[in-house]
Amino acid sequence: MIDEKYISQIVANVLKDVTAPAVANAKGQLGVFDKMEDALAAVKKAYKQYRSYTVAQREKMIANIRELTLAEAETMARMGVEETGMGRVEDKIIKHQLVANKTPGTEDLHPTAMTGDAGLTLVEMAPFGIIGSITPSTNPSETVICNTMGMIAAGNAVVFNPHPNACKVANYAVDLVNRAIQAAGGPENLVVSVAKPTMDTSKMMMECPDVKMLVATGGPGVVRTLLSSGKKAIGAGAGNPPVIVDDTADIAKAAADIVKGASFDNNLPCIAEKECFAFDSIADELIDNMTKNGAYLLKGDMVDKLVKVALVEKDGKYSINKKWVGKNAGLFLKELGIDADPRLIICETAENHPFVQVEMMMPILAIVRVNNIDEAIEMAVKAEHGCRHSAHIHSKNVDRLTAFARAVETTIFVKNAPSYAGIGAGGEGYTTFTIAGPTGEGLTATHSFTRQRRCVMADGLHIV
Ligand code: NAD
Repeated sequence: MIDEKYISQIVANVLKDVTAPAVANAKGQLGVFDKMEDALAAVKKAYKQYRSYTVAQREKMIANIRELTLAEAETMARMGVEETGMGRVEDKIIKHQLVANKTPGTEDLHPTAMTGDAGLTLVEMAPFGIIGSITPSTNPSETVICNTMGMIAAGNAVVFNPHPNACKVANYAVDLVNRAIQAAGGPENLVVSVAKPTMDTSKMMMECPDVKMLVATGGPGVVRTLLSSGKKAIGAGAGNPPVIVDDTADIAKAAADIVKGASFDNNLPCIAEKECFAFDSIADELIDNMTKNGAYLLKGDMVDKLVKVALVEKDGKYSINKKWVGKNAGLFLKELGIDADPRLIICETAENHPFVQVEMMMPILAIVRVNNIDEAIEMAVKAEHGCRHSAHIHSKNVDRLTAFARAVETTIFVKNAPSYAGIGAGGEGYTTFTIAGPTGEGLTATHSFTRQRRCVMADGLHIV
């Protein structure tokens, strides 16, 4: 027997679910909640509904995300620069276009089958469930959109805890993906976030038992925290990509490519060339060609003055002056009393200079002269600090290309092109803004956000 009170409780609960608003924050953005606990409850409900959606329906939502991202690329690029004070609008537009056009969808799901005398075994790529994703300030909306596409293509729901300094534009992207999902008939709140992300909301998200996988895109601190969470975690961490130029390279092209890569979005991308090791015999020609391609050569005590602007020194150790990350090269020069507005500042330094050893994310590229390939590789490997992130080289000598790739062991290795070729801009292959070096998934895509599940039928069900 079911008593009346119990029935009315069920009815009240059902009504609460039906009438619960998709929006819980004051600004009316879809999926963006004031409280993390509300975001978690909403995404849990959405994931339950999403379990019954077909792969074709997932693909329709992703197609809509591509379309809206292209339509609103400029809006997000402008918002990103305005909110963070970092990067360049024209380059951020390209980053959004890259995400829209080259992030894989459901085609990246490849089930496998094994058949034989003992029957048929099928391995399917299943969703993990609800994924908690922490995103950086350097590619805020790009990472939200790119991660969403891969994660929902795999059948997951997502809760974001964006970087507090970039949460306006990140949450604009959360709203955008929800608009796209709902226009394709998808569930409300499949992707959620909080209006004011903090360390507390991040902790609550990480500790929520409904969140089954964690993805960190950022510096070493957040990767370390996620890896000690006790949950399946993907860590996409910091890098300090070196580029080598030897005496067999097409020097004019190498110079142009390095200026393009190192100045792109003011050097914010984690893959961008951050220090250059050039053979002494071609270094003058390289520098000359760089200046012809939009670089400004800084010399003498001006380099020391630039160190004082860009970096902070404490007990002989240097770290970045956060105020200057991603700023235009012209602003640095203005600070030094120089009236010029180039794409990139270049300067010659010694190997142990902080411009070489610190991951700066500023349009400043130190060039170190080397005598031979062994010296170049040794210095480049040291400057990469074992991040196993990205490294680049301009050379036509296959033995040297191979020797560097083997020594540096990075996730991305680009030969004879700007660094961004490594994420599919002018290079073959798909794109991602979550490059998982520390945990080894590499360039993450739909397949990275799946669990492998085996289903066995032992009754000889195969057709040969
Ligand atoms: P950041 O490490 O300051 O912040 C990244 C995110 O982690 C933010 O959301 C921040 O709030 C959060 N966070 C930081 N410390 C945390 C902790 N202890 N616990 C929980 N959350 C924490 O990075 P940033 O300045 O926004 O981005 C630049 C850094 O990210 C660079 O080091 C760059 O190389 C790296 N990055 C890596 C990739 C990649 O794919 N590997 C992509 C973009 C950026």
